[in-house]
Amino acid sequence: MTQPIPPSQTRAYLMKKLLTICPICKKMIFGRDINLDSVDKTKVSSWPIRYTHSHEHINHPMHSITMFLDANLSVRTLEIPKLRIIN
Ligand SMILES: [Zn+2]
Repeated sequence: MTQPIPPSQTRAYLMKKLLTICPICKKMIFGRDINLDSVDKTKVSSWPIRYTHSHEHINHPMHSITMFLDANLSVRTLEIPKLRIIN
């Protein structure tokens, strides 16, 4: 029997963790896509933290989404500036 590793504890897990899917371009954003080194858990005094991620994907030019991440790097809130949904 193997003991499950607490998922929030390992950096390798966080790198592979799917944080969210960008509502603009549908890019999957993983832990490795954000700069985890800039998130020093020992120095963060209040969660969630605000993290803005900029990227481009397929036919979408550079854009940003803002994620509010809790201590497990789970996205609590997602902010999209000037969202335009084209169906
Ligand atoms: Zn996007």
